[in-house]
Amino acid sequence: INTIGVLTSGGDAPGMNAVIRAVVRTALARGKKVMGIRKGYSGLLSGDIFEMDSRSVSDAIQRGGTILQTARCKEFMTEEGQKRGAEMCQVFGIDGLVVIGGDGSFKGAERLAHQGINTIGIPGTIDLDIACTDYTIGFDTAVNTAMEAIDKIRDTSTSHERCSIVEVMGRHAGYIALWCGIVNGAEEVFLPEVENITQDDLIRRILENKKKGKKHNLIIMAEGVGGTNELAEKIQRITGIETRPTILGHLQRGGSPSALDRYHASMMGAAAVDLLCEGKSNRVVAFKNGEYMDFDINEALAMEKSIPPRAREVERLLESR
Ligand code: ADP
Repeated sequence: INTIGVLTSGGDAPGMNAVIRAVVRTALARGKKVMGIRKGYSGLLSGDIFEMDSRSVSDAIQRGGTILQTARCKEFMTEEGQKRGAEMCQVFGIDGLVVIGGDGSFKGAERLAHQGINTIGIPGTIDLDIACTDYTIGFDTAVNTAMEAIDKIRDTSTSHERCSIVEVMGRHAGYIALWCGIVNGAEEVFLPEVENITQDDLIRRILENKKKGKKHNLIIMAEGVGGTNELAEKIQRITGIETRPTILGHLQRGGSPSALDRYHASMMGAAAVDLLCEGKSNRVVAFKNGEYMDFDINEALAMEKSIPPRAREVERLLESR
């Protein structure tokens, strides 16, 4: 490997810049040339590619978002697009590529490896929904952002004896919701992966809580379950208790990355470059059972992940009754 390309793809996540920095600095230290590719596979296909040096990533480790920007690219889903992507790599001399993103981005990386470009994936998503790894870059920052926002909502909802329903991100995965349920001390958490109580059960619980003198109810709703506004309207209509929906939305994707995100980003970025230097391709870097490792992309994509039953159990145990 002589020249390593790096791109961020799919949804952005805090800590992506720390990965880019680690990739660039490790590659340079290994005597490689580094090319930054803007806007994911879309920038690869349009040749939006530039040489990066150590200074290109100065002042990046603490910044949210991604300095390389990100995009989704339909054309890259076609074999023609993937062939053109490999040709574009050749034009710029890129013989190794680091792709920071989620499962969709890894599928693209696998296709590019198939076209002869050595590729390594790094899990970057706030959703924690990548099966081969216990950690994905961005999750810790997103959970902390959601936790702080929910603490604030809770303060005011207690003052007014309101019920609050807060919808957190995660797409089809409930990890952010589960964590917020535990760390914010919610009365109820709705997750897409498991069976939840019914809306009628919830309404009875809210009424019971009121009888017991509870001053507020905090309900966390995962994006993958949804229906937050409708549920709030229904609770208020039936119980007469003022109920406010809040959809936290994209604020969860921004912000300066936490120490945990910067640390994993640095370790995984360096690991990806070292794998390329060892001649490896079609691998995903993972953090599993306390160790950094790597998996074949196809094997990684075939793995399945589910909400840890014990975490759900503890979340339920700690709900006030
Ligand atoms: P994420 O990486 O966060 O899962 P997406 O699923 O949107 O995000 O994927 C990001 C990009 O990866 C897509 O816009 C597309 O360019 C590429 N990609 C996704 N799936 C495939 C696929 N099956 N084959 C080739 N490229 C893909």
